[in-house]
Amino acid sequence: MSFINEEAIHSTLDDAANTEPARQREALAKARSGERLTLSDVAALLSIRDADLREEVHAAAREVKRAIYGNRLVFFAPLYLTNHCVNNCLYCSFRRDNRALVRATLTQDEIRHEVEILLDQGHKRLLLVAGEHPTQSALDYIGESIETVYSVRRGNNNIRRVNINAAPMSTEDFRTLKSFGIGTYQCFQETYHRETYAHVHPSGPKHDYDWRVEVMDRAMEAGIDDVGIGVLFGLADYRFEILAMLEHVRHLEERFDGVGPHTISIPRLEPAMNAPLDSTNSPWTLADEDFKTAVAVLRLAIPYTGMILSTRERPELRRELFDYGISQISAGSRTDPGGYHRDTHEYAEQFQLGDHRPVREVVRDVLSLGYIPSFCTACYRSGRTGDRFMSLAKSANIGAICTPNALATFEEYLKDFGDEDMRRIAERIVEEEIARMPEPIGRKTREMIERTRRGETDVYI
Ligand code: SF4
Repeated sequence: MSFINEEAIHSTLDDAANTEPARQREALAKARSGERLTLSDVAALLSIRDADLREEVHAAAREVKRAIYGNRLVFFAPLYLTNHCVNNCLYCSFRRDNRALVRATLTQDEIRHEVEILLDQGHKRLLLVAGEHPTQSALDYIGESIETVYSVRRGNNNIRRVNINAAPMSTEDFRTLKSFGIGTYQCFQETYHRETYAHVHPSGPKHDYDWRVEVMDRAMEAGIDDVGIGVLFGLADYRFEILAMLEHVRHLEERFDGVGPHTISIPRLEPAMNAPLDSTNSPWTLADEDFKTAVAVLRLAIPYTGMILSTRERPELRRELFDYGISQISAGSRTDPGGYHRDTHEYAEQFQLGDHRPVREVVRDVLSLGYIPSFCTACYRSGRTGDRFMSLAKSANIGAICTPNALATFEEYLKDFGDEDMRRIAERIVEEEIARMPEPIGRKTREMIERTRRGETDVYI
């Protein structure tokens, strides 16, 4: 069973190859009107080469992002549990054949130490990441690790949402995973192009395209209704990947009463230790300008789905992409197991990073751009997941919950980790934000900020 019709996608892209500006403008107008885009609309937008028209696409994405996500950016950090893996992905340093890589799996004490450091940086939301290995990343180890992460306290601070990026599993195992109290289950198809998929995943369980492309069907059948999909741009034609990912979204919405993925991730291929394939030798490496438009077009195509940007990208490009639709960002990331508490870094990172700034610097930068850094984890703890979250997002009422929560979590961050300079900038942005709010939301938000200033923690709607 595959809902990815490669032939149909290729013919849609071929038809869009010489799209007239009038057709491109028609698709842009449709996107601006909030009407759902078809694959041929998306292909028409992706066919735009004219810089001025691309700027209009970026501007439209900016409007849509502001309308639904306001000016919040949700922060998280990855926590790598193990770099043991039985797969051999050509673009990854954790691949089985990378004999030079020193392998490690964190003990529960090491995990506790990592979490303490992440809490001291202000994080409240983590993404646990594990290579695929029958013993080193077994389900019970993942369960025990999630329990450890939730158990760590630093003063009043604790991790309030644990998402997980782990190998596909059976529906039965997903039920067990759900019972560990996870937020989002993430698994990237990497590439939806079957032939490329077989080439870059030559062996190991990951070689099985269908087992992977159907992973979210099994996860959602098991009751995990916040799922995150993604592609690794640079493995195949990015336009093909975008249309295929949208077909995946449509498939899940059709199967699960309109509930598609909670998030999509858009990593780009980067060099990795002893990885034979990277951005320097792939024929499909995605250039910055095309990447910007790709992000904007995705924002227009799936306005209610969160878009995650990692620290693979350089700071200056991240700043621009925030504006085109990104809603969640990682900061201060380490992609080697133990990378936060071990400064020897004897374990290689999974791939090369572009943004090495500490969390505080990213918070200050985001603030200086006029965004509210959010450490909110309220929705999944309030049962606002799957269709409940989607209906709220689609009603455009999400702002009445997300913005007060973002401001309260940011006030908590400021109290514990802010400095005078940060507080001065924050006060202006917070006041402007509250001034824009209708009542009684404005009053409610002021009350939440006051409670936090008086020492209450984890104040949320
Ligand atoms: S990408 Fe994931 S599955 Fe592939 S080698 Fe790396 S850790 Fe293993």
